[in-house]
Amino acid sequence: MLDLATPVQLIKGVGPRNAEALRKRGVETAEDLLYHLPFRYEDRLDPKPLSALKAGEMASVIGEVRGTATLRARSMPIFEMTVGQGLGTLKAMWFRGTYLEGKFRPGQMVALYGKLESSRSTVGSFKMVQPQFEILPGPEDENEAVLLEVGRIVPVYESLGGTTPWGAKLGSRWMRQVVWRLLDDLAAGPQLIDPVPHSLRKRLGLPGRLEALRAAHFPPAGTGMGDLQAFTTPGHARLIFEELFYLELGLELKRKRLRDRAGIAFTADDNVRNAIKQVLPFRPTAAQKRVLGEIVEDMRKPQPMRRLLQGDVGSGKTIVALEAALVAIEGGYQAVLMAPTEILATQHYLSARKLLQRSSRQYKVTLLTGSLDEAEKRRARRRIASGDAELIIGTQALIQAKVDFANLGLVIVDEQHRFGVRQRFTLMKKDEATEPDVLVMTATPIPRTLALTIYGDLEVSVIDELPPGRSPIITRRTSEERADDVWEFVRKQVTAGRQAYVVYPVIEGANDDQPELDFPKDPSESAGQNTGAPTIALKAPAKKAAKKVAAKKSAKKSAKTKKDDELFEKPSLRAATDMYEELRHGALHGLRLGLLHGRLPSDEKEIIMQQFKRGDIDVLISTTVIEVGVDVPNASLMVIEHAERFGLAQMHQLRGRVGRGTAKSYCILMTGGRVSPEAEQRLDAMVRTQNGFELAELDLQQRGPGEFFGTRQAGLPDFRVANLVRDRRLLELAKSEASDFANLRTKNVTEDERAIVRTQLKLHWQRRYGLVEA
Ligand code: ADP
Ligand code: MG
Repeated sequence: MLDLATPVQLIKGVGPRNAEALRKRGVETAEDLLYHLPFRYEDRLDPKPLSALKAGEMASVIGEVRGTATLRARSMPIFEMTVGQGLGTLKAMWFRGTYLEGKFRPGQMVALYGKLESSRSTVGSFKMVQPQFEILPGPEDENEAVLLEVGRIVPVYESLGGTTPWGAKLGSRWMRQVVWRLLDDLAAGPQLIDPVPHSLRKRLGLPGRLEALRAAHFPPAGTGMGDLQAFTTPGHARLIFEELFYLELGLELKRKRLRDRAGIAFTADDNVRNAIKQVLPFRPTAAQKRVLGEIVEDMRKPQPMRRLLQGDVGSGKTIVALEAALVAIEGGYQAVLMAPTEILATQHYLSARKLLQRSSRQYKVTLLTGSLDEAEKRRARRRIASGDAELIIGTQALIQAKVDFANLGLVIVDEQHRFGVRQRFTLMKKDEATEPDVLVMTATPIPRTLALTIYGDLEVSVIDELPPGRSPIITRRTSEERADDVWEFVRKQVTAGRQAYVVYPVIEGANDDQPELDFPKDPSESAGQNTGAPTIALKAPAKKAAKKVAAKKSAKKSAKTKKDDELFEKPSLRAATDMYEELRHGALHGLRLGLLHGRLPSDEKEIIMQQFKRGDIDVLISTTVIEVGVDVPNASLMVIEHAERFGLAQMHQLRGRVGRGTAKSYCILMTGGRVSPEAEQRLDAMVRTQNGFELAELDLQQRGPGEFFGTRQAGLPDFRVANLVRDRRLLELAKSEASDFANLRTKNVTEDERAIVRTQLKLHWQRRYGLVEA
């Protein structure tokens, strides 16, 4: 008997050879195949006539083949087909289309899908270049083909690989037939188990599983095309909800299990409050007060804290973290603060020391980084193990690797924008009776949908307010042609006693294709080594990956566009090293310039940063290495060259380097090359707003969740149907329903249904998300 767990090779129409191909794409069972939904639909029930279509839109057109021809006059053969529809005609063309010769016969009906363009030769007629096509079944064809492809809304699928016995790729036609039969067979068998409990479906108005699948593959007449393309039909909503519900349920249970574990119940009495007051150099903002309240509330509970602290650069997270550290230390425990780089760890160490000196009590602060010599490291470890160190600050890798704590109570992870989700808690995996609290800080505003998934097992606090006295950073865009004015402005700022950054996308040479642009690809790559210079450590793999992508992309391009690209892209990409030389002897002659990039040895970087901090360097020419957490309040100007090449998250981080003091601050986005429409949007957004969350939303829309985090390894689930950008509303719904369900607040759920959900959850978490525990 057929059911959803039936392996694909046993499904009618698949066969062992194609089953192998499908398996390679992760499609192993009937269920997997059914959840491979169409990515678009064609309305062949009520197709729009040509006369109702407009040039410029994507359209599907049904018509009769009138004639075909191959034009060989030009550098490549072009296959042309004239398709008629009453009086209207459409010319379809395929470059190098000789493989299509003999495929079409006059009188056949075809469906074409592509971008409509108006034809220059004949008024009122259209053409389509390289359209997708299907020859529609004629009267002599089998019933089923007619049934599935004509006179209805027709699903179009992405190919899953595999070939027909005569070597054609398995496309939509194959999928339609296999899925149609499969749905029929399933309907004829015993009733399928539905992983979404009945009462829940009823309340939310969601159809049953089989019904939803059928409607998503073969929409009934009358289904709105708009809803179908947007994945918002009830059938789609049901399948998306199911997927998100299980994700959120898994996360909720994880949180619940955490609540069963033993943590430390810190006290927060007047003593602690006074200790904090003594070190605070200023009045905390309302947002700082609120999040500290949330953190302390967690710390007092006898369960371990798992909290994410989000806040834009400069919003004052560090202070809040140190306040939390004081709660732990005053309670007799050790606190540790881990930073992603050595520069940052050192910076944290210095500012913590300065702050804690304000107290009448002597706090013992210990730094542990890679550049300490062996003896110093050993001494630091000994102090940590004996309990003599109260606050330990260091790089993540070093501390996670080999440190024994006497009495660890609080772990603060400053991730900035490196998402080390999977390895985040390795530090606490010691078999101690109680677990320390964990606070993760990130300066990258994460859109809520992503926070709900990737950090879904954490509670979230947000600092959404900047400390007072900061005037907004004045942001302008300009182009390379006005570079002279920009350098003049830099000079003015320096004369006024300020400092400036000038940032480039690459280190050197126009052909240096190594943009120091993106996040490290995989956080685990930097683990275990001294992360003093993570950009260096990660360079090689990142470069390879980038090249591969580039190679793939260009292979896809037609010869013509390739030539165009060469014409456009070749001209000089300004690079840090070259511009350092040029500016030093030219436009910025006489000013004190420094050069900073990821290929410098880490002690040299350190020296240059210190000089800039002390004010011994006026203008720092740099790549994005400065992006992470550097704090120089006197720097009031950020110039970003080739701004069209930077991602939003990055520009936002870079801009956050200025505006840290009281002086009026500026950010100049200088473009130097072709600005794509997307880049245009990014630059506009940067000028329009300084709100990190707003920028993050746009970033997510532009790049999608995978790219947003710079890696698929970041713990982002591999959804079958859901899409975090599109399905935000359903995600919120799934989250609240999952929380109700896990805490037994969902009404009218039977024991059987609970058992089904449990089994399903295990499957989901193991297979889809690769998480074994459930
Ligand atoms: P983040 O870690 O979020 O990037 P920081 O904690 O480094 O931000 O704070 C940025 C700057 O603002 C620091 O110089 C800090 O001393 C200052 N600062 C933080 N909170 C306040 C406040 N409430 N009032 C005035 N200045 C503040
Ligand atoms: Mg900071």
